Amino acid sequence: MSASPQLPKQYDAIEVEERWQRIWRDETNYFDPTSTKPQFIIDTPPPYPTGNFHIGNALNWCYIDFIARYRRMNGYNVMFPQGWDCHGLPTEVKVEETHGITKNDVPREEFRRMCRELTLGNIEKMRTTMRRMAFTTDWSNEYITMMPAYYRKTQLSFLQMLKKGYIYQSEHPVNFCTRCETAIAFAEVAYEERTTKLNFFDFDGLEIATSRPELLAACVAVAVHPGDERYTGMAGRKMKVPLFGHEVPLIEDEAVDPAFGSGAVMICTFGDKQDVHWWKQHHLDLRTAIDSHGKMTPLAGKFSGMGTEECRAAVLDAMREGGILKRQEPLEQRVGTCWRCKTPIEILSERQWFVKINQDEILDAAHQVSWNPEHMLLRMEDWVGKMEWDWCISRQRIFATPIPVWFCKDCGELVLPEEADLPIDPTVDTPAHPCPKCGSTNFIGEKDVLDTWMDSSISVLNVTGWDGTGKPAHFPAQIRPQGHDIIRTWAFYSILRAVALTGGAPWEEILVNGMVLGEDGFKMSKSRGNIIAPEEIICKYGADGLRQWAAAGAATGSDIMFNWNDVVAASRFQTKLWNITRFVVMQLDRAEYRHQEPTVLADRWLSAKLSATVVEVTAAMDAYQFDRALRAIREFAWEVLADEYIELVKGRLYGEGEGRDGACSTLALTLDALCRLLAPFIPYFAEECFSAIGEGSVHAQPWVSYAYSDPEALTDGEFLVALVSELRRYKHDHGIALNGPLGKVTVMVPHPIDDGGDAARTLNADLHWHTGPADLEQVISDIKFNMAVIGKTFRKEAKPFMDAVKALPEEAIEHPPATIQVNGVEVAVPENAFSPVYSYMIEGEQVDVITVRDVIVTIQRSA
Ligand SMILES: [Zn+2]
Ligand SMILES: [Zn+2]
Repeated sequence: MSASPQLPKQYDAIEVEERWQRIWRDETNYFDPTSTKPQFIIDTPPPYPTGNFHIGNALNWCYIDFIARYRRMNGYNVMFPQGWDCHGLPTEVKVEETHGITKNDVPREEFRRMCRELTLGNIEKMRTTMRRMAFTTDWSNEYITMMPAYYRKTQLSFLQMLKKGYIYQSEHPVNFCTRCETAIAFAEVAYEERTTKLNFFDFDGLEIATSRPELLAACVAVAVHPGDERYTGMAGRKMKVPLFGHEVPLIEDEAVDPAFGSGAVMICTFGDKQDVHWWKQHHLDLRTAIDSHGKMTPLAGKFSGMGTEECRAAVLDAMREGGILKRQEPLEQRVGTCWRCKTPIEILSERQWFVKINQDEILDAAHQVSWNPEHMLLRMEDWVGKMEWDWCISRQRIFATPIPVWFCKDCGELVLPEEADLPIDPTVDTPAHPCPKCGSTNFIGEKDVLDTWMDSSISVLNVTGWDGTGKPAHFPAQIRPQGHDIIRTWAFYSILRAVALTGGAPWEEILVNGMVLGEDGFKMSKSRGNIIAPEEIICKYGADGLRQWAAAGAATGSDIMFNWNDVVAASRFQTKLWNITRFVVMQLDRAEYRHQEPTVLADRWLSAKLSATVVEVTAAMDAYQFDRALRAIREFAWEVLADEYIELVKGRLYGEGEGRDGACSTLALTLDALCRLLAPFIPYFAEECFSAIGEGSVHAQPWVSYAYSDPEALTDGEFLVALVSELRRYKHDHGIALNGPLGKVTVMVPHPIDDGGDAARTLNADLHWHTGPADLEQVISDIKFNMAVIGKTFRKEAKPFMDAVKALPEEAIEHPPATIQVNGVEVAVPENAFSPVYSYMIEGEQVDVITVRDVIVTIQRSA
């Protein structure tokens, strides 16, 4: 036993954490590709480098780190990579804001440089927080999607899917943000409730209601329900569009709701998704009235060049002037908006690149993955089932992976680069060979770039070592941790891409975490002012406090409300644990002790409780139930170890000899196990405690495998604890000081118990375990009268009645007769009028009796 310096009285989380952070080395956490240990690869989420590692990230990363640390302790070769999903709108929008420009104000390369610079600075800020949080990130497996080493793989995956027929280009209506000037995917459309106006106007004799009169120039048909008698025989008739004058057909379609307004609706290209359906189904014209900048096209005539809002007002004015606007009503509407800038989306038809969605293929793969919690699979099934359009992957932006293709200027042929030449920027680079079709050397590089999900959806391929030839060496990954808000994007696209490129499901398991809500129960947002930054918590309570909150706050998968009280409670638990550790270390260091197996009841009991705790915590960790694991550790450490066991064995610890050896051995083993159980959750604290009792780092130790079975010790130990607790209460109730002498205590147990004198010492009692027949004599020492009954029945005669009862023989007091004589008169004895009060005697001396779990305990205070 090494004599360690005395531990400080107070646990200073900040000092301890900063000290260990300087000592720990990154290399410890590197994945070893040559290892013979089983692999455990975590397909971690690459966050947007916003520069702000928010508390939602912290929750997600805490889960990942609990898993990584637990697996390492269980002998796995763990990869906990860290990616950065750099491309995309958030960064471009930020650069535009910061520099007060739009993307077209500076050359493309200059704009990209600004984006890269911003991104690298942000990554550095977030790395700092992640290190402070003690995440065991494998920094040798860091990837940055804007770097050539990564986007080469994105381009390679594009080419391979193009060759396999998964990717195609087509003119097709897509969701389009006219502020960001780019197409966006359905998954990126956010919905907002807005109040707008429904305008009823005269359309060539029919009444039509629309919330978007500015689309009148794009009207291509009027539709009615085929069963609507008001329009029987009118199908095919030409209708003249008011204000614009072009003619459109009147068509019939089952999807029209005849109960809405006049039952006639106008179809425009495109007001909403329904318009797209009708447009395709009835082979209608395409009239593009809004361009990609959100301005009205020349098709809009005198409204041409106006923004959509301006045009709406102008069209309504024109309708009023022409006397065709009949009335307006308020309308509650769900409007699709750009997820990033909240601009209402338009549906525009443009040439775009698409990825084919094969629903069955994706569902098959999704079912091969084990979902935690299980019900999250339903969200995936639901989303896949609703897919109607293919995934639009082209974006008209700049800071993104270029689409690696050219078009021949002379014959229009699509020209692809060699895989070996990737990465390329087709707007800068030229093909290595002339056009394979016509031999021309004039090319136009594709200007469109890829949706950022095209980068991040191959994260799993990247971390498992994909090189473009089928299944990667370490594929599939063991687990994908992620939030439930990106099931329909990141999880969905990742499965799609893994299946397309390798033919298999990307992971064995997926672990879905919830969202963090503010203290007010609402989603954290700047406008609500309920944001809590991880740094704020760390500098008050340490990273361990935040980590413990993440573990204990909610069941995995549920949303979790941030609450300062939970962090304070976490910190209090650490204080308690620190006090336990200090006490144990002090006892162990006080004098040498001989290690021995548990023989005394309390030692056997604690060993059995520890063993059960290890089983419970291990099962919870295997099921990713971190709250359950931590609860089991906490109950064991706080209640069983500190409040019960240590109180019981203090006497032995303060003494000498075998009794002390047993208690010290048990405590040393227990504290060692506790440090290991806590290591995944509060790594700094566990390391600090472990360093006081063990050799090396707790994080290099194997997971606890301690097993001790002793059912008798469990039952008898519970009884012992209950006995001590009842007798303490007795002392308290009788005004005896807690360490004052209690007298002679006899415990009438059914079988012999050897507690090594623990109970006697802790209670300061002369305690005897008695197994024979109890030589306890029961006497009636008093009679308890029920005055409610007696007063009502006997009124003034109550006292004579009670005197008569007192004169009865003992037998009659225990079993009252039907009548008794009161002053010579026979009176009936009412029910429940009185009952005997017993006293107990041992060897003629009166004792107090209590029962503890059906066991009789006598207390002779005078002895
Ligand atoms: Zn936008
Ligand atoms: Zn050509």
